[in-house]
Amino acid sequence: MSKDAPADDPMLRPRYTGLASFMRAPYRDHDWSGVEIGMIGVPYDGGVTNRPGARHGPREIRNQSSLIRRINQATGVCPYDLCQVADLGDAWIEKPYELEGALDEIAAFFGDVHDRGITPLSAGGDHSVTLPILRAVARDRPLGLVHFDAHCDTGDDYLGSKFHHGAPFRRAVEEGLLDPKRCIQIGIRGSLNDMDLWSFSHDQGMRVIYIEEFYELGVKGVIAEAQRVVGTGPAYLSFDVDGLDPVYAPGTGTPEVGGFSTLEAQLMLRGLAGLNFVGGDVVEVSPPFDPSGNTALVGATMMFEILCLLAQSRVARVARV
Ligand code: MN
Ligand code: MN
Repeated sequence: MSKDAPADDPMLRPRYTGLASFMRAPYRDHDWSGVEIGMIGVPYDGGVTNRPGARHGPREIRNQSSLIRRINQATGVCPYDLCQVADLGDAWIEKPYELEGALDEIAAFFGDVHDRGITPLSAGGDHSVTLPILRAVARDRPLGLVHFDAHCDTGDDYLGSKFHHGAPFRRAVEEGLLDPKRCIQIGIRGSLNDMDLWSFSHDQGMRVIYIEEFYELGVKGVIAEAQRVVGTGPAYLSFDVDGLDPVYAPGTGTPEVGGFSTLEAQLMLRGLAGLNFVGGDVVEVSPPFDPSGNTALVGATMMFEILCLLAQSRVARVARV
């Protein structure tokens, strides 16, 4: 880098240089002034029911995200031209050994983000972190939801705890953070111990697209369903990498074979343009199970697609005011 290059814009440097921030965006862990979309790491995996490691997700997604360029080739969207985007650092967790305490800390961090009018885009962490994020971004009104996952994550208590990565969306509905009639869950599959495991989703009127129906409907049919179910109101987007086939994303805690592909995921995400997203996350990247780093690259790539959607949504909201 020449001495004259702007020191605060990592985008202008070769992509392999410098400290890794999300997408090489400016790292602003103290000064959030002017930020419109904040990318945030949530390095917490105290809610896993099986293989751990997602606490290492944010750091490795930051590293792999240095491969991502500025413009979405398929849509032409450059999120950095639409919004001020920064890496806000990690949600600070001082009580990692107390699950509910950690969730409270995450909610407090995202409450600050929400108070400043910043749209959050997070990298987990296991899926339990989405509940405290929703406690912040949905505290004014219930949101719709587009949820990619192999699992509905609407289970009940497990081993004596209401809070784990298999239950965030049940708790979010119970707490009035989600409008279940405006929720869609895509890619659901896997063996069960109980055929009624996801009955909460069905009983609440959430739209559940099992992978077999995804296969029948195709990408376009699923996009149409998501647009219909979620409608024009504010919504959240949550992307669990285990929704992808483990061929594409093996580095995760609870892999299930027979999932959608990375390209199908990208096409579905792009098809959600026009929905009114107020936040999003990518969760369950577990670097200890990801020796090639490919799952983290996949996570970073999905994060970029969601960043484009959040920027488009934010611009559309400003235009409406
Ligand atoms: Mn999940
Ligand atoms: Mn899952």
